[in-house]
Amino acid sequence: MTDSNSDNIDTDADHQLRVSKIQDGTVIDHVTGGQALTVLTILGIDGSGGEAVSIGMNVPSDRMGEKDIVKVEGRELSQEEVDVLSLVAPDATINIVREYDVIEKHRVERPTEVVGVFSCPNANCITTEREPVESRFSVLDDGVRCAYCGTLVREEFAAHIGGK
Ligand SMILES: [Zn+2]
Repeated sequence: MTDSNSDNIDTDADHQLRVSKIQDGTVIDHVTGGQALTVLTILGIDGSGGEAVSIGMNVPSDRMGEKDIVKVEGRELSQEEVDVLSLVAPDATINIVREYDVIEKHRVERPTEVVGVFSCPNANCITTEREPVESRFSVLDDGVRCAYCGTLVREEFAAHIGGK
């Protein structure tokens, strides 16, 4: 992790211009190529909320080959959202923008567990029944595992969002 600052002003700046600048909101850069729509699902954005969203998909990136960029006006992300993002876009950088300036920039970090975010796909799991039990998944290298029943979720994370 030595390049956290060196990539601020690199040739990716050119590529960022492919997607319009925003005034206030969040730019999620260095998203794994092809995952932009999953990112929108994680953020609960389907267009019906009226947010102004710009997406760049499979944009050339020196660091990643191809990347996606998601820019959302008027929105900052919760830690929960960032945690889930890190599962589908482990190299993503979160840029908080105010008045067209990036005032904060950080990489996502994979959490060791996510609580209350995913619903367990196992219908018999205690967390999916009418019990006041929050879902709890530990994060593995290849997916997330329910702490209660051991069910493993390896992909389609967005489809399992909606835990309690
Ligand atoms: Zn479970």
